[in-house]
Amino acid sequence: MSQLPWHSQLQQTLTERKAAGLYRRTRLRDGEQGVEVVLDGRKMLSFSSNDYLGFAAHPALKKAFIESLDQEGVGSGAAHLLTGHSRYHHQLEEALAEFTGQQRVLLFSTGYMANIGVIDGLLGKTDVVVQDKLNHASLLDGGRLSEAQQLRYPHAAMALLHQRLHTAANSRNKLIVSDGVFSMDGDIAPLPEIMDLAEQHKAGVLIDDAHGLGVLGQNGGGVIEHFGLTQQKPILVGTFGKAFGTAGAFVAADEVVIETLVQQARSFIYTTAQPPAIAAATLASLKLVQQETWRRDKLQQLIKQFRDGADQLGLPLMPSQTAIQPLLIGDDKKAFKLGQDLEQHGILVGIIRPPTVPKNTARLRITLSAAHDAEHIDKLLGALEASYGH
Ligand code: PMP
Repeated sequence: MSQLPWHSQLQQTLTERKAAGLYRRTRLRDGEQGVEVVLDGRKMLSFSSNDYLGFAAHPALKKAFIESLDQEGVGSGAAHLLTGHSRYHHQLEEALAEFTGQQRVLLFSTGYMANIGVIDGLLGKTDVVVQDKLNHASLLDGGRLSEAQQLRYPHAAMALLHQRLHTAANSRNKLIVSDGVFSMDGDIAPLPEIMDLAEQHKAGVLIDDAHGLGVLGQNGGGVIEHFGLTQQKPILVGTFGKAFGTAGAFVAADEVVIETLVQQARSFIYTTAQPPAIAAATLASLKLVQQETWRRDKLQQLIKQFRDGADQLGLPLMPSQTAIQPLLIGDDKKAFKLGQDLEQHGILVGIIRPPTVPKNTARLRITLSAAHDAEHIDKLLGALEASYGH
């Protein structure tokens, strides 16, 4: 048995965390991700995945995955810059460049790594990164890892972003960073205003659209398509573990930015490329994301059904037009209890507490998917009616 000299300190922190109702724990899923999941041996109706279009267990993705296994084997066996970059990775980068309308795309093994790599890779000591306070942890970590000065602005507060940029006027390079769709709130970043401020202050913009890609825009182009940006586009991070139903991530930008990342992004350089089969399955998924527009239409109908129903019940909906529909509860223990009560009704939702969200803003993170049907939303609303306020 190994034991650290500060074992008792660690134990105490764990005990305190548990007492505060902030303990996290992994749960065991059997079988596929989907509308119904078996978690810790119990079958539940799930509103707790990021599989927004219902692709995680789609037959076309499975087929592409299996076929590529026969040709390429399982492991990529090396980093992209050595011998790990397969033809499937290459094809996926090309297809994503076309999909996003950007010059070039670079794959990363996870979204977390893409975010730390892109910020650390593009900024140095004399630079400034300006981030929305509710940005995903990986973006904030990217800012910390880079040697740039990191400033933050209150959520979506454009006047304060302007002020921060003003403060940073004498820095060499400035990068504004924002989630496209905020992962715990579901709201959409004010991208046109961000782009205007960037132009005014000669700053760059990086958008992490993990939760918007595939969901927003006629073709699933995410927040950039949602706002109809065609000329000046931000650097884009997209992830595959959500609407695309697979795993991994990419950065889309112009040639010089991507080439800089190839040379400097340590989380790209020093890691094993994803298995080629994941790239093959993602290629299949990218086709469906573009072709099956009905999935986005259906998802929007379900979102409307849920919001109308929740409104009638007087539930504390947050302002969101996306697949992420949180209910703001506030108190950590109350949120936990409500989540547990819903499980008693066979309904699974995310229970989100600090430090994932700010103090006193614990919430139930309800996520909808094109794989749900109207009757599933009715069941969810019924369980919420029975549990909320009791
Ligand atoms: N960005 C956002 C906004 C996310 O929500 C997540 C995942 N929760 C990530 C990045 C990280 O992506 P990945 O899961 O591929 O590491």
